[in-house]
Amino acid sequence: MSFFRSTFTTEKIDDRTTLIIEKLFGAPCYMYLLEGEDRAALIDTGMGGGDLQSVVRNLTSKELIVLNTHGHFDHCGANNQFGEAYIDEKDLPVLKLQQSKQYFDAILPLPLRLLLSRVLRRILYCSHDETYRFFSDGDTFDLGGRTIEVLSAPGHSIGSVCFLDRENRYLFSGDTVVSVGVLLNLCGSTNAETFLQSQQKLRARSSEWEKIFAGHNAYPLDSKTIDQYITCTERILDQSGERKPNRKKGYVVSYEDIRIEMPTDARVLEIPPAGTLPFIEGPLI
Ligand SMILES: [Zn+2]
Repeated sequence: MSFFRSTFTTEKIDDRTTLIIEKLFGAPCYMYLLEGEDRAALIDTGMGGGDLQSVVRNLTSKELIVLNTHGHFDHCGANNQFGEAYIDEKDLPVLKLQQSKQYFDAILPLPLRLLLSRVLRRILYCSHDETYRFFSDGDTFDLGGRTIEVLSAPGHSIGSVCFLDRENRYLFSGDTVVSVGVLLNLCGSTNAETFLQSQQKLRARSSEWEKIFAGHNAYPLDSKTIDQYITCTERILDQSGERKPNRKKGYVVSYEDIRIEMPTDARVLEIPPAGTLPFIEGPLI
């Protein structure tokens, strides 16, 4: 049944850029394959619910580097199929936490865990023995005639980044600039002030891209979405935005097309020491 098994589809954005969509639990995750003259880069690896490596190898035989926009399980799930991935070091504890059985035992009710047990074993409780390399803000990856720059954008998670494809004028934004909404109520999210600074930094550089490709939902976006997140966050901070109760905990503030989910309890933001669990009653991703 496809609800419990990943299906992959691909769409060409241009001759050397492919969107790969993984669908699992009815929720699509977007990955992007960028080919240069010498190397290729895979931005994010989805949930790990299928053979992503074969999908990628059917698209390119070039040397491949894997780049993660952030450490959530629905963006790093198949890192282990590639042996090595780049990530912002600050998100590694988030990634390790989300790939622990303890974590899902704590946040999913037992009936749901039993229903999902096979797929959870396949995507989370499997061997994650890949190695990690770390990038920093401003680092670049030369793919051969195509340069990818790392833009740190903490908010949704403390180690979230966007990737600027300079030559093609694309921004790959992960869960930082997404149609519909951004969650700031997860373990490892930052406060709203930091998220606002990240969005302001992106706006200051927005003349460098024409299209934004996010980790989920509609694409391509343009920089109007960044403006919406800035206004929405300002309304959170000056308390002029209407706060609606969240589904489980915290509150939501909306502005035009987008919404931001906020926690009421700052403890959800803390990344717990290894081997311990956070206080969490929020959504998963
Ligand atoms: Zn995320």
